[in-house]
Amino acid sequence: MMRNLVAGNWKSNKSINEARNWMDEMGEAMDKLPKNVRIMVAVPAPYLASLAHEKHPRILIASQQVSANGHGAFTGEFTADMLVSCGVDYALVGHSERRSDFGETDEAVSNKLKQCTTAGLGVVLCCGEHLNERDSERQEEVIKSQLESALQDVTSDDMKNIIVAYEPIWAIGTGRTATADQAAEMHTFIRRWISEKFDLYTAENTSVLYGGSCKPSNAKELFASKDVDGGLIGGASLNSGDFQSLICSFT
Ligand code: PEP
Repeated sequence: MMRNLVAGNWKSNKSINEARNWMDEMGEAMDKLPKNVRIMVAVPAPYLASLAHEKHPRILIASQQVSANGHGAFTGEFTADMLVSCGVDYALVGHSERRSDFGETDEAVSNKLKQCTTAGLGVVLCCGEHLNERDSERQEEVIKSQLESALQDVTSDDMKNIIVAYEPIWAIGTGRTATADQAAEMHTFIRRWISEKFDLYTAENTSVLYGGSCKPSNAKELFASKDVDGGLIGGASLNSGDFQSLICSFT
């Protein structure tokens, strides 16, 4: 199982033409990019079905959102199996912007995860602490509680389709990055937690990504830690050249 992974998150950015240009630029550069890294991008929902069919086969396509429910009277929602039927590979679940700006609770995160595992959709499970929690040294407690809640009904078999992203909220979109030591410490903590909840094999085969103002100038140092398997990248994923540099940041 290849743990190295660089995942972009465009958030609410790009027109469909800009999205297609990005995909074309990635396709043209693909032969020059290292083979030991998986590549993913989470695009705006309206573009998922077409980009899933047009993209380079090496690029995994992710949704930034998924319903916590199945089919039915849920106007505006789209289900995990709708995403699978459109050729989507993964969904982001529990991103801090969804938690804080759209009221996504731990319970919703856990329900979304269940919907995804049942439908066979991969999950990028995001967790992260607020600045006040870091300042009071409660980061491990916060992450543990987020993971315990989200992964309560998950089996080690389900974990094959789950990626964990550690994203300290104080570092997202702020230009303030966790130091390589801070990231390494939390990633080791997360991997140990996975090994205790599931088993060593699952822990060693789960990708744990860092997210929070990761960019070409700091990625090499962050990705060098043995438990940091790559990044979930917001701002620096918008430019395909920057994104390619990030993919080249593994040593
Ligand atoms: C993110 O949205 O997951 C993220 C890490 O954003 P940024 O890289 O812009 O901080």
